[in-house]
Amino acid sequence: MRLSRYFLPTMKENPSEAQIVSHRLMLRAGMIRQSSAGIYSWLPLGLRVLRNIEQVVREEQDAMGCHEVLMPTIQPADLWRQSDRYDDYGPEMLRIKDRHDRDMLYGPTNEEQITEIFAGSVRSYKDLPQMLYHIQWKFRDEIRPRFGVMRGREFLMKDAYSFDLSVEDGRRSYNKFFLAYLKTYARLGLKAIPMAADTGPIGGDMSHEFLILADTGESEIACHRDYLEMDWSASDTGYDDDLQPVIDGFTSKYAATDEMRDAAAESALGDDLRTARGIEVGHIFFFGTKYSDKLGAKVAGPDGEEITVEMGSYGIGVSRLAGAIIEASHDDNGIIWPESIAPFKVGLINLKAGDEDCDAACDKAYADLRGKGVEVLYDDRNTRAGGKFADMDLIGLPWQLVIGPRGVKSGTVELKNRATGEREELSIESALTRLLV
Ligand code: ATP
Ligand code: MG
Repeated sequence: MRLSRYFLPTMKENPSEAQIVSHRLMLRAGMIRQSSAGIYSWLPLGLRVLRNIEQVVREEQDAMGCHEVLMPTIQPADLWRQSDRYDDYGPEMLRIKDRHDRDMLYGPTNEEQITEIFAGSVRSYKDLPQMLYHIQWKFRDEIRPRFGVMRGREFLMKDAYSFDLSVEDGRRSYNKFFLAYLKTYARLGLKAIPMAADTGPIGGDMSHEFLILADTGESEIACHRDYLEMDWSASDTGYDDDLQPVIDGFTSKYAATDEMRDAAAESALGDDLRTARGIEVGHIFFFGTKYSDKLGAKVAGPDGEEITVEMGSYGIGVSRLAGAIIEASHDDNGIIWPESIAPFKVGLINLKAGDEDCDAACDKAYADLRGKGVEVLYDDRNTRAGGKFADMDLIGLPWQLVIGPRGVKSGTVELKNRATGEREELSIESALTRLLV
């Protein structure tokens, strides 16, 4: 993409409405614009990041055997009356009437909708287990929308649902999601710590929230210090392995969000206790027959008897992650994208646009990289070098390839790694080879 023709409205000044760094940087880098409180438009650069996060999440859901669907944003109120949640949900639910005066709502989540689909489509135990997910916008009329996309009113969520014949099978599905979440966050360059969460009336131990640590997190967490240094990637574990010991290994030590903190457990930890602030980036929850009972999701068992299916739901805050990743990865100059979700891999800076040799060298590097499938944002604008460096640092692409008239004469370019700040002068060929790995 040539920057001269792109839509990248960056800002030099810090917008006054933004209280935390990710919100500031997303506005300044031209990623998002606010429409109304907690509701945002995604501009080209931001949308590329959002799509990349979505794609990592999607690939990991697909890899674990979960199937993608797409349910609507608007749901009929009657569906929620069947589960008794229409009145209970309260003012967070955006309630709408259609032209026939029927009550509708903008979905804050999709348990009812997916259970209805399942109940109308699956008849036999032989079709279980089943796992379905979608990536869709949600609306929750949050009392205090804030921190940009981190606590929005309209936000993008991946929500998945599992259907099993027994609680024991339900645990197997739950463990698969647990593993998929570890793999997903690792690919996003995050250390997300699974913490036991409230299970409500269902009880048991099958509810975990995944939190990344950041000073701007809304939750005050406490955990064993080993968790701060832990390798969460779980890259050696496959879905056909016995997952219970693996999950137990990841959850054996103390880790609790503010609602779940336990003074006795914390004092027992002594010097090993650490407290920090955390951002919730995902939540997995087994809730048994809570919805299947009310919405009639039953299958015929092996002996023809009716069995109400056991369910769980599994959310990831896709749009929140865009902000959360910035909270975890930035410096004074701007964002530092992990390569897996960077909007472009390389920022190519032409230090003297209009200079014939310099233009020719840049155009060639741009064409070569694009020809090899590398995503490049080419700053071909006829503006000052200082501003170009500042913009490139601000938008945080992993690599900067800097080509100027002096280097062109001696056959060299500069390659800068945004994360480490390391710069290297090398031949254009070596630089291109480096960027192709
Ligand atoms: P929170 O405690 O932050 O309000 P929640 O418990 O209401 O979250 P879930 O219903 O479990 O959230 O939703 C799944 C995921 O969706 C959360 O882990 C979070 O990452 C994301 N999420 C929830 N609410 C919002 C919001 N208002 N804006 C952006 N992302 C959100
Ligand atoms: Mg909430």
